[in-house]
Amino acid sequence: MAIERTLIILKPDCVKKKLAGEVLKRFEQTEGLRIAGLKMKKLNKKILEEHYAHHKDKPFFKALCKFMKSSPVVFSVIEGENAVARVRDMCGPTDSKQAPKGTIRGDLGEDVQMNVIHASDSVETANVEIPRFFKKSELF
Ligand code: UDP
Ligand code: MG
Repeated sequence: MAIERTLIILKPDCVKKKLAGEVLKRFEQTEGLRIAGLKMKKLNKKILEEHYAHHKDKPFFKALCKFMKSSPVVFSVIEGENAVARVRDMCGPTDSKQAPKGTIRGDLGEDVQMNVIHASDSVETANVEIPRFFKKSELF
């Protein structure tokens, strides 16, 4: 199986509730996954319009951008075998209320918007999202 890299963003609800360490710990404690990059930053309108371009006509887009700008977020690149799908599985479905216990969103999320974490949804997406937020020299 291929070694992949995937982008995660620990969203404002996660950072405000001081759950960033808890979420990163879950990835670090998963056999074969490791942190390849890590930083904290505030998102702005321009980068959110790029990151969520495929959602710009959705009714939730405006509220999503407001939420994502409401505090700094934590960016990380997680590396490992099959990392893209494994990280998405660990996150659980988008709506925290539908997400099973044992998943990050099921255990720590509030609803469909405040769902703790973004994770790239495919290898192709990861290949676009990682360079959006990390320079090559920031990945190890
Ligand atoms: N979102 C929302 N309302 C919705 C659907 C999604 O606020 O009805 C937010 C939520 O934070 C989600 C993000 O928009 O994580 C991107 O939506 P997507 O469907 O791509 O979900 P994901 O890939 O994050 O599971
Ligand atoms: Mg998505």
